[in-house]
Amino acid sequence: MNDADPVEAATRIPARRVIVPEIAANGALRPLPGRDKFVQVGGETMGTTWSAKLYAPSATDGHRARQAIQDALDHVVSEMSPWVATSALSRFNEAPAGSWHTLPLNFFAVLRTALSIARDSKGAFDPTLGALTDAWGFGPSPARSHPPDARDTARMLAHAGWQRLDLDEERRRVRQPGGLAIDLGGIAKGFGVDQAARALKRLGIRDFLVEVGGVLRGAGIKPDGTPWWVALEQPPATSGGEATLSDIVIALHGLSVATSGDYRRFVEHDGIRHAHSIDPRTGRPVGNGVAIVTVLHESCMWADALATALLVMGRAAAIAFAVEHRIAARMLMRTEQGMSEVLTRRFADLLRDEGEAA
Ligand code: AMP
Ligand code: MG
Repeated sequence: MNDADPVEAATRIPARRVIVPEIAANGALRPLPGRDKFVQVGGETMGTTWSAKLYAPSATDGHRARQAIQDALDHVVSEMSPWVATSALSRFNEAPAGSWHTLPLNFFAVLRTALSIARDSKGAFDPTLGALTDAWGFGPSPARSHPPDARDTARMLAHAGWQRLDLDEERRRVRQPGGLAIDLGGIAKGFGVDQAARALKRLGIRDFLVEVGGVLRGAGIKPDGTPWWVALEQPPATSGGEATLSDIVIALHGLSVATSGDYRRFVEHDGIRHAHSIDPRTGRPVGNGVAIVTVLHESCMWADALATALLVMGRAAAIAFAVEHRIAARMLMRTEQGMSEVLTRRFADLLRDEGEAA
């Protein structure tokens, strides 16, 4: 098999599958002889929760770590949240057509990454769908009793589109083309995790697992030399199929993992569930049968954005894209026979059977 062959894994189901990155598997890292304190902290951010487990030299450092993570996340929210009326993002979204806006460093960096993924994904990932996500009930506006109709949708689509955004790299500016609402909901949690990780490293903390709303990044190891083990999220059980899916656990060592799922956030209209990912071609929530996408990447921001992109693309396009860009991804598709699992070659290469990894 070569790189172009995704692995249809539905038929190959051991009890449990594990991923151990090379560097952790070959024992390159030894625990430091120390008396590090285990600290577990958490809080709220971005409409969800965050948590972290870490080893710090002292309990005081643990305390400082909690504050450093919260500060890092608050900072992201203060720049990029549509729920904060004074955020740079909200001000941009409200600004008149033709106005230029100098963005804070982080906001600019996230937007630039979002736009490069928009380009690569041919617009499947599009950070300009704010009006639509809001109208469908996933933004700050109060929930509506009816979803947007065809005319509303067409109007909002006409104002959206990543190609309408002009970025002035030199002066870190972006132009509001008129009525365009930036929405970084598909990438900001991951960026927040990366920022939290940076804050911990600045405190001299190297061994940690940090998570925002199910998007995780792990670094270092525990004092006993074992890595941070994380079980991949599975979709909630419905009728049939899932029983055949074995768990996958990952040693999160210098690695991030993000999951996008069609069941995670949704609204219901007339008994039909609509997921919070919008198909930019139709302006409506995706309904392509992809239940869940998990992406492994060094950068949590990239893992987060790529998981959203693959979910929106749908099976065939997602597989082609993941193979082309060598993305380590796992996808579960809803089929009439239950869930079918697809692993990209890059993901499958990381997997080993439980026995081997021990
Ligand atoms: P995630 O949970 O990371 O998959 O992100 C879902 C969020 O991304 C939604 O709540 C929206 O804020 C945003 N979003 C929805 N559709 C798209 C899309 N096609 N491209 C980029 N972001 C999107
Ligand atoms: Mg995402």
